[in-house]
Amino acid sequence: MIDRRQFLGALAATLAAVEAKAQSTTAPLWGGPVLDIHSHMRQGLDANMVHMEGCGVTNAVLLTRATAVEQVKAVQAKYPNCFIWSASADITKPDAVEVLTKAVKDGAQGFGELKFHVEADGPELRRMYALAAELDVPILVHFQEVQHFEGEGAWSTGFKRFEAMLKAYPKTRFIGHADAFWANVSADYHEEAAYPTGPIKRGGITDKLLGDYANLYGDLSANSGNNALSRDPSFTADFLARHQNKLVFGSDCSCQDGRGGGVSQNNNPAAARMRGKCAARETLTILKQNTEPDVFRKLTWENGLKLFKIKA
Ligand SMILES: [Zn+2]
Ligand SMILES: [Zn+2]
Repeated sequence: MIDRRQFLGALAATLAAVEAKAQSTTAPLWGGPVLDIHSHMRQGLDANMVHMEGCGVTNAVLLTRATAVEQVKAVQAKYPNCFIWSASADITKPDAVEVLTKAVKDGAQGFGELKFHVEADGPELRRMYALAAELDVPILVHFQEVQHFEGEGAWSTGFKRFEAMLKAYPKTRFIGHADAFWANVSADYHEEAAYPTGPIKRGGITDKLLGDYANLYGDLSANSGNNALSRDPSFTADFLARHQNKLVFGSDCSCQDGRGGGVSQNNNPAAARMRGKCAARETLTILKQNTEPDVFRKLTWENGLKLFKIKA
């Protein structure tokens, strides 16, 4: 028979174990809140949150067409203060300005992602750059010159000429994303591969533009962002420190569970290196390993809040 002292001791141990377990399941995986600025809206009310909980993301920018406003509102109602919305529309259609203006009235806090077969300095995107400035929302653009599969084509082409846009639209908050944006961190990139590997030649266009233009930000999402941070370990920490106010964490991950289950990089055979992995977890791990805690917090939380004017 156990006496009262033994009983109380055992009880205390049990309670301590329960408390430790509760903390391990509720404590943030990354030591604080994490905002994913590149989270395409998934089918169903819960799928986005399932992914986020799996990879330790607390808040997300839902990217979706302007026509999905009701679904966005339903997700926001179920998970208050967890989601903001960034809207897109077919910018090759004449009503794009009208559609996106209405989306902002309906609560959208950003444009994008915009991914169309147009030139980055062509009339379709120029209209959107001007509108983003007028409505005071950031605009996220997918830049890609090399196709991932036969027949895909290229998206927002001509990134090497993009400095002229940064000059022409000084009040627009541009968020650069995807293959061409990230491949051009290296000065020797000539569109030979979607995801170039090996050492980065210093002085690449993306690196220069981030340093020279206050209105350009970099979205660290997808295989493209992860690849740029992985290919040359001697580059990564210094790059993140130099642009600590300009780089923003995003995942663009399509895995289901935040642990690499399902398909991580949809429709993209060139991104096979991410197969079975969660892009959010992979990139957050690189960021954690290559930054001081205050910089990690900027990249994963503070910069995104400022950029999208989110009230925490
Ligand atoms: Zn994209
Ligand atoms: Zn994932």
